Amino acid sequence: MIDLDIPPQVVVVEGHSFLIRRKRVRTLSFRVRPEEESVRVSVPWLMSEQRVLEFLRDQIPWIERARQRWKGLKVLRPPRFEAGEEILLRGEILKLALDRVPPSSPVRTPRAARADGELRLSVRARDSKRACAHALDEWYRDELKKILSPILEKWRAALGVEWTAIDLKRMKTRWGSCQPLTGRITLNIELMRCDPGALEYVVLHELAHLIERGHNARFRAILSQNLPEWREIEKAMPVLR
Ligand SMILES: [Zn+2]
Repeated sequence: MIDLDIPPQVVVVEGHSFLIRRKRVRTLSFRVRPEEESVRVSVPWLMSEQRVLEFLRDQIPWIERARQRWKGLKVLRPPRFEAGEEILLRGEILKLALDRVPPSSPVRTPRAARADGELRLSVRARDSKRACAHALDEWYRDELKKILSPILEKWRAALGVEWTAIDLKRMKTRWGSCQPLTGRITLNIELMRCDPGALEYVVLHELAHLIERGHNARFRAILSQNLPEWREIEKAMPVLR
C-alpha cells in the first residue's frame, strides 16, 4: 500500500485548533504539547470527518485542563549568552551586557558581575558557552552565599536543628536535598533565578528533613507551622526536569 502524501488539514473546534493528518493508523490519536498552538491529530484513512469532529469535541475538556496546567508552569531555560538577554536574579530581571576583553588583558574571563540593573559578563572571543555558564553559576553561588546565612539562622531557631554542611551546586532535577544521617544539606544554585520565597521554602523544607525524613503528615505540619503559604510557593516554582 502506498501512503499518499496529503497535507495536514487545520480544523478549529470550539476555539481549539487541530492539525489533522490522515495516516495508516488503526485508531485516532492526538498529542497536546505546551509549546504548540495546535493539537496534532492522527486519523485513520477511512474515518469520516463527522466522527473525527465528534471525537475531538469530546476531548476538549481534557485539552483545556492540560493547557491550563501548562499556563502556570514555568520552565527555566538555559541562557544563550547574547547581549541584552534577560538574566533572572531572585525574580528580578537583569539585562546581560557583554564586555569584550582584548586577548592581551590580564583580566580573567569569563567572569560575571552585577552593575546597576545589568549583569556584566567579561568575555574573550575564545570563551565557550560552557565556560560562560560556569561563570554565571559561580556568580549565582556567590550571591546565594551572601543571602543564605540569615535564612539558615531563622529556620535553625524555629526548628531547633543543626546541620553539618551546606553545599551549593547546580542540580538538574532537585531544588535541594538533605541527608538526615550525616546532616548534609545541598541547595541548587538555580534557586537564585526563582522568586525569593522559593529559597526560604527550600531551605525550610530541607532542614525539616532533619526532623522528619518522609513527606508525611508530620513533615507537612512542620512546613505549615513555619511557612503557612509553602504550598503556593511550591506550586509557583519552575519545573526541573
Ligand atoms: Zn523533601
